[in-house]
Amino acid sequence: MARVSPRGLRVFYVLTFNLPMTLGVYIQVPFCQTRCTYCNFHTGVVSRDRFEPYADAICREIETSDLSAGPTVDTVYFGGGTPSLLDPALLTRILDSLRQASGSELTEVTLEADPETITRQKAAAWLAAGFNRISLGAQSFDDRELKAAGRMHRREDIYRAADFLRAAGFRNISMDLIAGLAHQTHESWEASVGQLLRILPEHVSVYMLEVDDDSRLGKEVLAGGSRYGAAKIPDDDAMADFYDYAAARLASAGYDHYEISNWGLPGRHSQHNLKYWRRQPYLGLGAGAHSFDGGSRWANVHEPARYVTLIERGASAHEQFETVVPPQALQEEFYLGLRQLEGIDFARIERDYSFDPHLSDRLAVLRDRIDYLRSNGFIEVDGSRLRIAPDRLTVSNEIFVQLLG
Ligand code: SF4
Repeated sequence: MARVSPRGLRVFYVLTFNLPMTLGVYIQVPFCQTRCTYCNFHTGVVSRDRFEPYADAICREIETSDLSAGPTVDTVYFGGGTPSLLDPALLTRILDSLRQASGSELTEVTLEADPETITRQKAAAWLAAGFNRISLGAQSFDDRELKAAGRMHRREDIYRAADFLRAAGFRNISMDLIAGLAHQTHESWEASVGQLLRILPEHVSVYMLEVDDDSRLGKEVLAGGSRYGAAKIPDDDAMADFYDYAAARLASAGYDHYEISNWGLPGRHSQHNLKYWRRQPYLGLGAGAHSFDGGSRWANVHEPARYVTLIERGASAHEQFETVVPPQALQEEFYLGLRQLEGIDFARIERDYSFDPHLSDRLAVLRDRIDYLRSNGFIEVDGSRLRIAPDRLTVSNEIFVQLLG
């Protein structure tokens, strides 16, 4: 019988400190309508016939996960892939299984949705199923950029989707934008940010384009060519400008910048995603989903057909089981925690990790590096709290290397 961890849910929180007794559940739906040019995720374009057996396998994984023995499930996040491709009846079946197995009230239930997949009927069915937050993959309001990126939707689809969601009654909508798409210019970026603000979603994510080397665009970047617009990708300086522009516009529109890539109107921070940055437990279900119980991390097998076969057989789909040893947990406190603009409490970290004498040298090195980064304006220190200086967020990766490398 499959279990959420080889040792069962009761071991949640082994090495995590000051833990709230709640659990986030992530459900991976690894299917897309097409493959975006920059993406090489473990997702596939498959026949719709495969959706129902996949949803049934997730329900079975839920039923065998012993959720009633663990902490209260408060957040659920359906991500992908494109989970909005699944028939609403299948999404409802999964959510019903989860409610029944956990006996929990689910307070934040998010569905990632691509604009062109949304209809009036689907929006109403999602709300009725218990979803109360939709994360809309807008990415850009410029049709040329969307087309070059291989996205299926166009600007008009975003407006239509937002109208359907609002009309259905959704009051918590998140929208993503990508800075750095091929053909993006300062003008087109500013127009996209402006058009997003006209819709006024409760939450906004701005991601810098990451091109997977094995994606179609990635291969063109390496080998040359003009089919996917590799030569038209803005340079790093332009991308940093785009990010700073979005940050300024969102701040003046009343959004709280709470994580490097995320902004929310008051009370609308993503409760589920906060668990990742705060090292709180989450259980991943579905092919390729990752889990963390406070002391260990593991993943499910990536290939959806293999996942379904294993679950149907009553076997575990887990692989890549890894115990998070204290030095690694300490690293994670920094590179996950410092993504939040509120930063981290270094005094709390020193207290929590002082139980391990082997870490005292490591903590001393960290103190020296923090002093260096602070004196050069990369990190701000306020009492025992550390945070990346807000005007240095575009170089956060370099700061993490300096601090933890
Ligand atoms: S970017 Fe998202 S929608 Fe596009 S192929 Fe990748 S997972 Fe699918």
